Amino acid sequence: MSKHHPLLQSFGALLVLDADSRHIQATSTNLEALVGLSASSQKITLNQLLGKRMAQRARRELQGQQRLAAPLVFNHGSDKQARLQLRAYRSGEHVIMEIEPLVIVGQRRLLGAINEQFIKLTEAANQDELLTYLVNEVRQLTGFERVTVCHFDPDWHGHIVAEAKDTQLPTLVGQRMAASDVPPTLRRAYARHPVRFIEDANASFEQLVPNDFPINLDASVLRAPAPERQCYMESLGVRSMLCVAMQRDTGLWGLLSCFSTTPHPVPASVRDAVHILVQMVTERLALLRARQEARYLKRVQDSLMPATSPHQEPQSPQQLLFNHADTWMTMFRAHGIALWIAGAVYQVGKTPTPEAISQFVIRLGNAHTHSGPWCTRRIAKEPLTSSLAMPEQSGVLAVPLPMNPAQRAWLCFFRPEQVEALYWSMQPTSQVTPSICNSPPAAWYEEIIGSSDAWQRVERLAAVKLGEDLTLAISSYEIGMLNMHLENERKALAAANQRLEQLAHFDPLTQVWNRYRIEQAIDTELVAAKRYGAGFALLLFDVDHFKTINDTHGHSLGDDVLVALARLVESSLRGCDYFGRWGGEEFVVLATHSDLQAALGLAERLRTLLTTLHVEGLKQLVTVSIGIAVWQSGDSCKTLIARADQAMYRAKREGRDRVEIADGEIA
Ligand code: GH3
Ligand code: MG
Ligand code: MG
Repeated sequence: MSKHHPLLQSFGALLVLDADSRHIQATSTNLEALVGLSASSQKITLNQLLGKRMAQRARRELQGQQRLAAPLVFNHGSDKQARLQLRAYRSGEHVIMEIEPLVIVGQRRLLGAINEQFIKLTEAANQDELLTYLVNEVRQLTGFERVTVCHFDPDWHGHIVAEAKDTQLPTLVGQRMAASDVPPTLRRAYARHPVRFIEDANASFEQLVPNDFPINLDASVLRAPAPERQCYMESLGVRSMLCVAMQRDTGLWGLLSCFSTTPHPVPASVRDAVHILVQMVTERLALLRARQEARYLKRVQDSLMPATSPHQEPQSPQQLLFNHADTWMTMFRAHGIALWIAGAVYQVGKTPTPEAISQFVIRLGNAHTHSGPWCTRRIAKEPLTSSLAMPEQSGVLAVPLPMNPAQRAWLCFFRPEQVEALYWSMQPTSQVTPSICNSPPAAWYEEIIGSSDAWQRVERLAAVKLGEDLTLAISSYEIGMLNMHLENERKALAAANQRLEQLAHFDPLTQVWNRYRIEQAIDTELVAAKRYGAGFALLLFDVDHFKTINDTHGHSLGDDVLVALARLVESSLRGCDYFGRWGGEEFVVLATHSDLQAALGLAERLRTLLTTLHVEGLKQLVTVSIGIAVWQSGDSCKTLIARADQAMYRAKREGRDRVEIADGEIA
């Protein structure tokens, strides 16, 4: 039979009308039998068929509409005893009407059942409960031997996830269906016409008269199964089948399928009820899924929370990974995790070697320019990864961390091979004729080997979020490290400065001011004296016969004498006097706010004090000769020192161990 001559199932009759629904242009061969007219289709008008009022109503309700919002019910026959229902929709330039006998299953009972089910559905806490309700209710409504729900994975392989059945039938739950069982054309057809019903695959079918009328009947529920479909059903040992697509905004989620080994009529009202139930469940599933995904995302994000909180000591990338790897491996169903940051590899669990990881992310960085995650569940077959040494891994999910562009980093999750014992759903029976009916491809088993579990959309999303949080945590650690480094640098610099200052201003042997610092102090005093007239005095003293001390006791003891002398002088001075080493065994005291009288008193006091100097091992007395110069207006550091020096030499000449005043200053 040619494809152009559509065949129709006989549980209803079909009419093709013009766009205005006035003229009947083609009818199915069973129309007369169904409506009880013996006349040929050409002679029947829509008015005759539906009655004038009903025909007008149908036209009115179809005006500007693609289909009748609800089926129309009308009585027919000479005694008006037969009750029929009519559905109508547009197909191109034509209106197609389908007429089925109205089977009174009790509209009220149906609605009641749906309402009751709706309440149960909202109570279902998870997918399993929800689908179990669905299959049981559909089986009760339809009386099919078996009702299943098949869910499609991202590769379009089906997985039987729920079932209601006659007790003597073996269960199909957990079994798989090859993607070829629901080819793309069929999936597209389900998107447009979610309900498919075949009352009896082996029935003799009706034809359209005229036989060659050009019309697309794809959307008709009466359309007979295509030969391939017939073969498929035959291979399952099934004669009657009702399938309802579980359509989500993301695509075909799954399929509710009802099977019977015998012809199984299902009234239109029951098919509608099943369709409504499936839609309700599908929506509910989406809601449950959304909640579940939100909870999962939150758990993943919370997993890193303590590490990113401001009160927490920042952790290094390595610490972050080690502390969280177990949690993350569980959450992402991974057996290993690696963190690659600018060439450094940190790894936990079962991962490839650091070299393989590095090679992988470098390749990935070159091949994968956008900032999203990259994943495969078949490392060995993926061009990017097939040549890499990753024998223990089958799946990898790699997330680029949004660090600065110069520093690329990746978080990689690895999954092992997931070898599953997979079974064909509903093995082909021996009656199948292989020439017409393709047997399921045997290669399907091979495809599953060498694969890991698929990376779910929500897992990829969670990994990206985790990557973002991890980047934050790593950045905060790096900033912390940088700050610490800067702080150390700052401390080292301060210490060096302090050492420099010590060197610049202090005499390394005696730890009193050096000549440079004393000169600074004298300059400061000169400025103050000039401005405020605050006089000051300079005492320059030199140890007498110091050479002898060195010569007699050694240079080292000479040093000890200088240190002891400095300590003694220092301890006896007022806080406002300055003291420093001028060079060799010469020292300077800068006595602020001092006139000659005060300076003389201080000099004498120091001279006497120093005679008491005691140094271990030193036999002789330590004496000093002191020269005093008191500030005079016009003095510079140089003139002041020169006068003190000259006075000090006079003290030497006059016999040492004495105090002399510079020329012109009267005691
Ligand atoms: P006078 O009474 O004339 O000052 O005799 P003097 O021996 O003290 O004078 P002189 O200038 O001849 O000798 C000073 C000596 O001090 C010479 C030098 O070796 C010694 N000297 C200078 N600086 C130091 C030092 O830091 N440590 C030691 N141990 N000796 C020093
Ligand atoms: Mg001396
Ligand atoms: Mg000297």
